[in-house]
Amino acid sequence: MTLRFFGAGGAFSRKYGTTCSGITLRNGHRWLIDCGRQAPDQLHAAGVSWHDIEGQIITHVHGDHTFGLEDFAFSRFFHSDRGIDSVRDGGPRPKLVCHRAVREEVWQTMAAALRYVPDPESPTSGRLETYFEVIEPSKVEPPAAMPWSRAEHFAVGGLRMVARDTEHVPGKPSTSLEIAVDEPGDATGSDSMVAPKIAWWSGDVTVMPDLLAELEPRTSVFFHDCTFTEYPGQVHGSFQALEALPEVIRRKIVLMHHEDDLEEHRARAEALGFRIALPGQVYDLVTGQRLE
Ligand SMILES: [Zn+2]
Ligand SMILES: [Zn+2]
Repeated sequence: MTLRFFGAGGAFSRKYGTTCSGITLRNGHRWLIDCGRQAPDQLHAAGVSWHDIEGQIITHVHGDHTFGLEDFAFSRFFHSDRGIDSVRDGGPRPKLVCHRAVREEVWQTMAAALRYVPDPESPTSGRLETYFEVIEPSKVEPPAAMPWSRAEHFAVGGLRMVARDTEHVPGKPSTSLEIAVDEPGDATGSDSMVAPKIAWWSGDVTVMPDLLAELEPRTSVFFHDCTFTEYPGQVHGSFQALEALPEVIRRKIVLMHHEDDLEEHRARAEALGFRIALPGQVYDLVTGQRLE
């Protein structure tokens, strides 16, 4: 199982690109984590077609994570490519996995475009399901911090993951991802839904030391939102908070969603054991090591 960064920069990055990464599962299926504003061009530059993608995971709705989705939806709906028919001609819809609270906001941001379908009888009948095979959670945990916040578990076609409510913009649905990287059937203990080994993806998040410490023993790699800009009401992964984490966690962290001033901070970050994500890098999700 691998993860490739198409874009590794933050919301306003011009050098490192907005968030979109591709994961390849053991069965060869390719999924995307987030689909930012620059994703259509990032994928094109990497030689990847929307028709190569089995499914899409969304952490939360901000343009640097979701503004590429309309291109994805319409391309698959209207175009055939790579031997895959368009959805309109009966081809498969790409799968969509996200927390249900996030899903509502995905539709809010896309409805003005996607509700119009080529159907003279009901031209505004488009729904998210018109374009995507929307995957329902297989298990929902009890409410946590926010009224909407319930960690949701998903299992679909070789992908097993938890979308967990995490702290980003106060009150806004936003999730981190716990992606199972163990061989199916390795699960032990009373709760077989708990993957014995995961790769963790922060989405946009403030630093949550307790959650990271709890997950660390079974986590191969933490891909963590990072900002070197300190300000009151921080909504991202403050580097000051990241550098205060225990070394065993820091050495598993790959900093991402950083700003364009990265090089000013690189030496300090690497001296503390952090690795830094750049577009084009590939990581082995099982070992947590970088491959390319
Ligand atoms: Zn972001
Ligand atoms: Zn965000």
